[in-house]
Amino acid sequence: MSARPNSLAARDGAYHFHGYTNALKNEQEGGFVVTRGDGPFIYTEEGKEYFDGLSGLWCCALGFGPQPRLIEAARRQMEILPYYHTFTQKVATPTVELAEKLVGLAPVPMSKAYFCNSGSEANDTAIKMVWYFNNALGRPQKKKIIARNKAYHGVTIASGSLTGLPAVHADFDLPVPGILRTDCPHHYRFAEPGESEADFATRCAENLEKLILAEGPETIAAMFAEPVQGAGGVIIPPATYWAKVMPILRKYEILLVADEVICGFGRTGNWWGSQTYGMTPDLVTSAKQLSAGQAPIAAILINQPVYETLRDHSNRLGSFAHGLTYSGHPLAAAVALETLRIYEDLDIVARVRALAPHFARGMQAFAGHPLVGEVRQIGLVGAIELVRDKASHASFDSKLAVGPNLVRIAHDHGLIVRPVVDSICFCPPLVSTEQQLDEMFARFGKALEETH
Ligand code: PLP
Repeated sequence: MSARPNSLAARDGAYHFHGYTNALKNEQEGGFVVTRGDGPFIYTEEGKEYFDGLSGLWCCALGFGPQPRLIEAARRQMEILPYYHTFTQKVATPTVELAEKLVGLAPVPMSKAYFCNSGSEANDTAIKMVWYFNNALGRPQKKKIIARNKAYHGVTIASGSLTGLPAVHADFDLPVPGILRTDCPHHYRFAEPGESEADFATRCAENLEKLILAEGPETIAAMFAEPVQGAGGVIIPPATYWAKVMPILRKYEILLVADEVICGFGRTGNWWGSQTYGMTPDLVTSAKQLSAGQAPIAAILINQPVYETLRDHSNRLGSFAHGLTYSGHPLAAAVALETLRIYEDLDIVARVRALAPHFARGMQAFAGHPLVGEVRQIGLVGAIELVRDKASHASFDSKLAVGPNLVRIAHDHGLIVRPVVDSICFCPPLVSTEQQLDEMFARFGKALEETH
């Protein structure tokens, strides 16, 4: 179906090259133009309403309607000082305040915040920090980075290399050398027959240690990991996984970088996913809900020992010669700071915890459906995995595109959710009401019934 001539959709097809989009399809059909939002709903140019069950891209914790406090924070900052940078000790007021606030909120004691504009940039920067750290310590060979299958850490050359999804690498000449891959901790999909969650977690940790020993611990700098793997299909680790993995990382002096880009700021029922799973990261990368998706900003939190090493090396070299024109942009920082204050005023963590059982019940209501293999969720994020055979967990042939087809039908019913192959991901705004979640599940239920 092609777009109405001269509509925004048609103009988008004519002029805009999108990311994560079939470019030819967009040119032929035009874009899906969203013109306004209200709570968890978005509206198109033609006036059709959709429940956005993924909060945009896992980011719009406050939904899509106008937020008077954020409008005011942005307006005030634009009036006072629309731009200043962070090079050579310069900084604008909200950037200082945001750094202080984030260090105060950190999941484990952290010393400093460093700002970027996106999750990909934050992870790229964290890799550079880890390399700089080991150079500073006179360990130039300790540089390899471990990431997991099905991880999502971004799309830039380095962060895209950490991402463990083949589609992100295909024909982009990724990954770059020096990235090691370890198990995805998804019990339902990768456990041996009869293996308990705890035994599976132990096996993942043993495999990690084998990898480290085979490569040589003296060559490995860090492991990057999301507390819950989001874009890989909302993969929730076994309860004992991190208790098994953490001591191995410590034993071989491998830094842990927790990628909290999705989990940070309440998503899993704590401020941070690291708290939900007992991770003790050396660095934390965050973005998305940091500004409720309303301004592009990301932050890296750095612990004291790592920071001191970076600091002293910057002193030796004269500068930490890495920074972005828009690092800690005052407008984005003002919006993020006010977002965090809104979360505190709403007691967002308590709110997520109160809503999570309702979300879980809504998700689990689909568990008995013949197409549904696993339903998994924590806090307000989850996935429903479709299978060909419930008993054996056998997947559909991916060419059948069962998940993407379901998502297309859901779209017709006014629901936006994300298929990761046949796992349908849900990540509604944190401020959704029970009634709104019921509406989301009602739309999904219709789509599931029409899927064969
Ligand atoms: N890390 C995680 C866990 C993510 O989910 C994402 C994006 O979805 C990124 C990093 C990359 O963030 P961005 O798209 O802002 O570069």
